[in-house]
Amino acid sequence: MNIFIDCDYTILAWNGRLRPGVKELFQRLTGDGHALYVWSGTGIRWGEVKMHGLESYVTGCFHKPLFDYQSRLEGMGITPRPDLVVDDYLDIVKALGGIKVRPYVQEDATDSEMKKVYQILSSLSPNGHHPTNSSQEALFPGPA
Ligand SMILES: [Mg+2]
Repeated sequence: MNIFIDCDYTILAWNGRLRPGVKELFQRLTGDGHALYVWSGTGIRWGEVKMHGLESYVTGCFHKPLFDYQSRLEGMGITPRPDLVVDDYLDIVKALGGIKVRPYVQEDATDSEMKKVYQILSSLSPNGHHPTNSSQEALFPGPA
């Protein structure tokens, strides 16, 4: 799957520090054959991706639409289309399908949200959006 991952408060705290477990998540997902994209409403964030040593796991960085998500993807040059998004903002997760994470604002060494993301993704069938265990409240189906 093409997995699109938000930056601020999803993988980065307010001060730009990396959330616990992000590198391990990226390693595991690329190891499982997924393509990872990092996008952000504030622009293209290769700088932070490289600063945190994640560039070998990331296929592309994009500027993320902040509204009319579906219809603006093409005009913003976002290809391929996301199969699944990971974001702290519920609206985009509901619109595009994916996993809503708890916002990571303050640094917290005990945060285990990235492990939860991997567990949910592991429960999906290879083509996504069909949880084999349906008790995942953070998972939202993609558009029909
Ligand atoms: Mg965010």
